[in-house]
Amino acid sequence: MNLKNIYIDAGAYLQGHFLLSSGKHSEFYLQSAKVLEDPKVAEELAKNLAKIIQEYGLKVDTVCSPALGGVLAGYELARALGVRFIFAERVAGEMTIRRGFEVKAGENVLMCEDIITTGGSVLEASREVQKQGGVVVGFAALANRGFCKRVGGDLETQPTCKLPNDVPFFALGDFEFDVYDADECPLCKNGSVAYKPGSRGN
Ligand code: ZN
Repeated sequence: MNLKNIYIDAGAYLQGHFLLSSGKHSEFYLQSAKVLEDPKVAEELAKNLAKIIQEYGLKVDTVCSPALGGVLAGYELARALGVRFIFAERVAGEMTIRRGFEVKAGENVLMCEDIITTGGSVLEASREVQKQGGVVVGFAALANRGFCKRVGGDLETQPTCKLPNDVPFFALGDFEFDVYDADECPLCKNGSVAYKPGSRGN
């Protein structure tokens, strides 16, 4: 399975001149929601990710995702693993687990995102799981932006990765590409203007 081709075919791997939420500029942008708009593709990706996790031997009771981005990927992954699914959401800036979702003491919880860049949101959600007594046994994402070391991957963890070193991280593939500070952006130097993904219908 070639993750990059799946993203390209779904129109989820965008090329242009993007202003990222970090304030940096990039020639590429991943719109993971787009790759999941076809439920058949979502199911296939989740099955492949579940296979990696099962081959590793990870015991999972529950998958938990941070809303909104991780919910579709996490739900499909839970289905593929045959376990239940809950999500955490940000309320007034704080990641919380609400809606009657409960985590039992000792429950093995796998955290899931659509894509992990530094892992900040999913790490916050994992702390909520731990507060309720859950054991965070792993992190998972469809795609890895290349800052964190994943099981079976070639890349080493970068200082920007926020995921803990002692918990395995599973993803289907890596997407490495350069990001630039605005004043050093070669695309800006060529005269084009960065725009926020989503602001032009993407
Ligand atoms: Zn630029």
